[in-house]
Amino acid sequence: MNPLSDTFGRLHDNLRLSVTDRCNIRCFYCMPEHDVKYVPHPEVLRFEEIERFARIAVSLGVRKLRITGGEPLVRRDLHVLARKLSAIPGVEDLALTTNGVLLAEQAKELYEAGLRRINVHLDTLDRERFIQITRRDDLAKVLAGIDRALELGFGPVKLNAVAVKGLVEPDIVPLARFARERGIEVRYIEFMPLDAQGLWDKNKVLLADDILKILAGEIGPLEALPDPDPRAPALEYRFSDGVGKIGFIASVSRPFCLNCNRIRLTADGMLRYCLFAIEETDIKGPMRRGASDGEIAAIIAETVRAKWLGHEINRAGFVPPPRPMHAIGG
Ligand code: SAM
Ligand code: SF4
Repeated sequence: MNPLSDTFGRLHDNLRLSVTDRCNIRCFYCMPEHDVKYVPHPEVLRFEEIERFARIAVSLGVRKLRITGGEPLVRRDLHVLARKLSAIPGVEDLALTTNGVLLAEQAKELYEAGLRRINVHLDTLDRERFIQITRRDDLAKVLAGIDRALELGFGPVKLNAVAVKGLVEPDIVPLARFARERGIEVRYIEFMPLDAQGLWDKNKVLLADDILKILAGEIGPLEALPDPDPRAPALEYRFSDGVGKIGFIASVSRPFCLNCNRIRLTADGMLRYCLFAIEETDIKGPMRRGASDGEIAAIIAETVRAKWLGHEINRAGFVPPPRPMHAIGG
């Protein structure tokens, strides 16, 4: 049996590595505005530990790595980690998810380290709404980061926008036009119950159909694209004129748990088999106590085997995970 296959037959070849729980902005659907409880520095995995974990996971069949956080670019010398990860034999795909604020400064060294795929988180092109969402005035830096990444030849560059109902509707058309002009894709991620302040409510989730209606009315019709990888979570559409793609990560309205192929390592070295998992498996402890690669591999395989069928956001008894998005690693 494949070591990263679970009891439902799902194979896990996709690992998301959170490198920090800290962030330089404060999106309301992720972090609290004040008094953020951070993991103390000594508890955060060192680059060598993250690389070791990734190597072991790759030896078990992981092929895709994504660096995330918190905001990964606030971690000093992230390019050093990107270089280590892209050099692991067997890694077919290395990607980064960032809020883009520090991207213009770091894009060149990340490119030189072998990184190519970037998702930049951007919900709006409106400065006031950016401030309202992120509680920081950094839109210009994010836009400069996107320009710089495109100039350097990163690709694919995608935009991640969180679909919050009653808030981002005016941003949908400008964001799609912005992306069409640059040949990049916008991905809408349904607002999930992972915010630090318990603000989530099902009625605040803006659904793919609503977004498609707005886009079709203002820009032009869209057509669904065939799914190149049934295990990838995004549903993708293309404008019928051939210019521009829109993707949807519809975790709330169309959960993709049955095809899930992901595991996650938090910045403090806990392994999670699901974004919404309640339990976590300690990796840092055994690593720092001298566990062998084989012992770590066995812990990873055991965690995957214990994976549940899926999250229960849509059930009455849903219990959100004990940590918010920035601490889990998005
Ligand atoms: N700081 C980076 C960023 O913002 O892209 C990486 C970490 S962030 C937690 C990863 C992604 O999670 C972001 O692209 C953001 O769109 C998404 N996100 C954060 N909170 C969310 C929530 N409550 N529901 C849905 N998506 C969320
Ligand atoms: Fe920071 Fe990303 Fe969370 Fe926004 S979504 S607060 S950028 S970690």
